[in-house]
Order: sequence, then structure tokens, then C-alpha cells
Amino acid sequence: MEIFKRFRFEAAHRLPNVPPDHKCFRLHGHSFEVELAVHGPVGDHSGWVIDFAEIGRAFEPIHKALDHRCLNDVEGLENPTSELLCRWIWARIKPTLPLLQAISVRETCTASCTYRGDDEHALTKPASDGQASESAGPEVAFAVYRAHDGALDQLLKLLRDHVSTLQRRGLATQRPVTLLRSSDGRTVLEIFEWCDRAASEAARSDPEIKALWGALAGVADLVSLAELPESSQPFPRFAPVS
Ligand SMILES: [Zn+2]
Repeated sequence: MEIFKRFRFEAAHRLPNVPPDHKCFRLHGHSFEVELAVHGPVGDHSGWVIDFAEIGRAFEPIHKALDHRCLNDVEGLENPTSELLCRWIWARIKPTLPLLQAISVRETCTASCTYRGDDEHALTKPASDGQASESAGPEVAFAVYRAHDGALDQLLKLLRDHVSTLQRRGLATQRPVTLLRSSDGRTVLEIFEWCDRAASEAARSDPEIKALWGALAGVADLVSLAELPESSQPFPRFAPVS
């Protein structure tokens, strides 16, 4: 399901890279309109994709930075075309709004531009040593939790919600989560797939995920794979968690 929320701001701009006789070379103003498209599943209980107010909160700092300004004075907007404005907004809002699907900027009633983050990696992360292509796609994560004394059941209960919440927030792919119990009786291995590197970073500032991680930290410690007793065996076996 896709939902939309529209915002407005007033600003001046001039395009420094057009010929001097082009009308946009001169300073002028627009009532800019920005539409954010957010895509995700409809929650069983909430009946919505996301609270519209949450989209509003995510846009607030953008509005503050742009409204009643000369866009050319805003850092990163030295050439404030609609296209570059879309990218500028995308880079600032996507981390707090991971379900963001598209941004449209409208300068006038008849001229608009839509950006879906297509060239995001090329623009915000210069390619180096092939890292860019690695981080652009899904990444499988292994998380190893060692339950505090007597907290194994609580840990398993929280882990049953963990990846489904990441999936609902558009951060993890639909790959089924694998939960395995170590022979030490208190360590659990969780295997799931992030949509991409950016999603794993966005999770850290997602309020719902942060709350869940806080609860997990209350019942278990994250330990390294090497601390699993099975990690030294050539053909390790685990009990599945159903
Ligand atoms: Zn203009």
C-alpha cells in the first residue's frame, strides 16, 4: 500500500548554471510543494501503513531548513533545481523514514520532478573498492544472543517479534528468519536479511526498533559468533526454535 503526504514551503532560488539570459538565472520565488510517498504493508492491528503524523515529524527539519530561505544559501543546494532538491531531501529524510518510496517536488502547477532514490548510492556514497555494490543489496545478518539467567523464555518471546517488526518497518526482507538454540541452553542464533546497508543504519534511529532492542538488551547480551560453543566444530548442529 502506498500513502502520500504533501507539504508546502515558500522559497527563492536562482539557477547559477543556466545561460545568463535564461529566466531562471534571475532570483525568483516559488511556493514549492513536496509530496512524500511511503510504501509498506498495512498493520493488522493499526490498519495503517504509518501514522501520517510520523511523516510530518520526519519532514519538520526539512521544512525548517528550506522555508522562507534563498535555497542557494542552503548547504548542498548551491544549484537548487527541483531534481537536486529531491535528492537533497531524500538524503536527509530517508534515514528517519525508511519506508519512504518517492519524493516529488513541484515548483509550479505544471512542472514537477519525482525521485525514488534510484541513484542514491552513486550520489551519496562515492564508490570505493567495490564496497558500493556490496552495500547496495540485501545483507544477511547473524545475531547471537546470550540470555541472562532465567531469561531465555523472555528472549525467545522478544525474538519472535524482532524480525517481523523489521520487516513491517521495511528494513528486513521477507526471507524467513532462522532461530537456532545453542547446546549451552542459553544462547540463540538469529539469521535474517537486511534490505540493504542503509536499512540496518536506519533501524538505529527507528523508535519502534530502538524500544525492541532496549527490551532485548534487558534479557540478553549480544555476543560474537566465536562465543557459540558450536563455532569450533567443523559441522555444527543446532536445535531449531519453533
Ligand atoms: Zn524557479
